[in-house]
Amino acid sequence: MTDWTGGCLCGAVRYRLLSEPFDAGWCHCRTCQLNSGSPAMAFASVKAGDLKIEQGADALGRVESSSFGHRRFCTQCGTPLYMSVNHQPETIDFSIATLDEPARLAPGFHIFYASRIPWAEPGDALPRHDRFRPDTRGLEGTEPPDAT
Ligand SMILES: [Zn+2]
Ligand SMILES: [Zn+2]
Repeated sequence: MTDWTGGCLCGAVRYRLLSEPFDAGWCHCRTCQLNSGSPAMAFASVKAGDLKIEQGADALGRVESSSFGHRRFCTQCGTPLYMSVNHQPETIDFSIATLDEPARLAPGFHIFYASRIPWAEPGDALPRHDRFRPDTRGLEGTEPPDAT
């Protein structure tokens, strides 16, 4: 396979994936909107430890984006790079758009669709979930999981 590599806008932070990413999807939650300044973010998962920072580790910032997770970004240019949530310590979720070749990994679903901005209506036929996906693998969102 061709290596999956990526980085931030200014080039300070560069990363490489050591295994195939999975569970690519859109998140429309309010935290993603504010974190990106955009209507939604597209994430995919990779095994924790398999996103290797090859350059610029000292430029990574950290924000506690919710009571159960944090996000990492480039402190030089602000690009949101990846996030971790406490309930899935075995994976991290990275911003697909930060890949050098983002077209290689297409989202397969929408989560937190209930929080979407109405003028940002997707033109695809992908499954749309109001919050998390029913199976626990979809916890890329940043709001507390439903207790029910
Ligand atoms: Zn940067
Ligand atoms: Zn989100």
